[in-house]
Amino acid sequence: MTPLRALITGGAGFLGSHLCDALLAEGWNVVAVDNLLTGRRANLAHLRNDTRFEFVEKDICQPFDVGKIDYVFHFASPASPEDYHAHGIETLRVGSFGTFHALENARKYGAKYLVSSTSECYGDPLEHPQKETYWGNVNPVGLRSVYDEAKRFTEAVTVAYRRYHDVDIRIARIFNTYGPRMQIRDGRVVPNFMGQALGGEDLTVYGDGSQTRSFCYVSDEIDGFMRLAHSDEHMPVNIGNPSEFTILECAQLVLKVTGSKSQIRHLPLPQDDPRQRRPDITKARQLLGWEPKIDLEAGLRLSLGFFQQALAEEKNSK
Ligand code: UDP
Repeated sequence: MTPLRALITGGAGFLGSHLCDALLAEGWNVVAVDNLLTGRRANLAHLRNDTRFEFVEKDICQPFDVGKIDYVFHFASPASPEDYHAHGIETLRVGSFGTFHALENARKYGAKYLVSSTSECYGDPLEHPQKETYWGNVNPVGLRSVYDEAKRFTEAVTVAYRRYHDVDIRIARIFNTYGPRMQIRDGRVVPNFMGQALGGEDLTVYGDGSQTRSFCYVSDEIDGFMRLAHSDEHMPVNIGNPSEFTILECAQLVLKVTGSKSQIRHLPLPQDDPRQRRPDITKARQLLGWEPKIDLEAGLRLSLGFFQQALAEEKNSK
């Protein structure tokens, strides 16, 4: 039997590249498309000689067609606040035009479709923890709106393609995820703290550090995507780790895991930085039998080698 073929937009990104690995391990042929705006070839270097894998450098904001496919995983988008601030227009374009083009591929080939959405759909949430039924508290003209509204629009286009064109959709709402292949300077809290702790710099805590996030290790997150991909659920599902930490607690854990003597330095809190975030994962538990297994300390230990190497490469390239 010919293997099934999956298209992954954003396939050279942090999550996209791990998804390529998971699909190949499950026996799929995989075509990854990425314009390398924030994705990196290095994330796919280990697949160079795998004949079942193909990489296409392309901007999905233009119509594209990579041939017959059975599943579309639409993961293309800048995702770290620093990246989407730097590339605000590109973020809006990929969430809108890019999403239409990804869905058109699913429609044309009768392929299934899964899109990476985000806890940012909930904005600075007034409901805590966040259930999928919560509509969110988003500032449509704030600094984060290029990402938040792009992703909310992505969800709207996706459900519309099911309603009007009967495309077989799934929507994963991703909460803070970390692990190997994040860029050490992408501005997100875990790579920032790991880079700073290992490099002997101060850890930059924004505000007083009492804001909370819930961190999911990448292998747990990918397991959630794969289970959702094989399910028949068409409405959004939270995929995230419900263990909630203040940013100060996260900094202290990074210091513990790295054995670093770095100090904590407080910097101003960015505009519209959500006060709290924690997924309610009842739906994923019941529907997918999924829950994360790796806690933050264990996940940071699993990531340590990667961040040490990334820092060494950064020093060598200077
Ligand atoms: N943060 C911080 N120091 C940093 C980077 C981030 O204190 O060097 C804080 C940030 O203000 C936010 C939280 O950590 O409250 C998570 O930030 P991140 O950029 O990882 O993602 P977000 O969840 O805000 O999208």
